[in-house]
Amino acid sequence: MLNGPLPPQVDPRKLAERQAVLDYCVAFADLPRFASALLEQEGRVRMQLSFARDEGKTLILRSLLSTQAVLRCQRCLEPVTLDLQSQCSYALLPAGADRSGVSAQHELLELGESLALAELIEDELLLALPLVPAHKTHHCQIPAWNSQEAARESKPNPFSVLAQLRQDNSAETDITN
Ligand SMILES: [Zn+2]
Repeated sequence: MLNGPLPPQVDPRKLAERQAVLDYCVAFADLPRFASALLEQEGRVRMQLSFARDEGKTLILRSLLSTQAVLRCQRCLEPVTLDLQSQCSYALLPAGADRSGVSAQHELLELGESLALAELIEDELLLALPLVPAHKTHHCQIPAWNSQEAARESKPNPFSVLAQLRQDNSAETDITN
């Protein structure tokens, strides 16, 4: 396993020829777009990226990413640490190639001279972030005042309703007198 940033550009043909597996541990600092989406910018992402050709000779890149990220819980607004995993397979096809034979399980990418690997993997990490990060319900720190306030607003106090009725009655009595 290599510690350090991913090479920004790689030659996917060469890597597929030798069925390379890139095994990296990348600091969040080397993934600035991903890091800026997190509450804490300290951490690392474990990545395994394997290059190969399938039976149809299509160049396939398989990614396996895993990390722990601290985000803000959208329920209680406290930090929440989430395990993030992402697995994806990409089919790299030359421009204008027939795509009909490629299995739908692959994301399609255009195969050029080189592949912007770091950018691709950072995009995948961003997509792996939950849209609405939150604690599991029993771990969530919903502030007490918040739930009390909500209860008060949703249910009118029975005594104030009674008092209101009394006032209305006495007003009518006043008019008839
Ligand atoms: Zn929470």
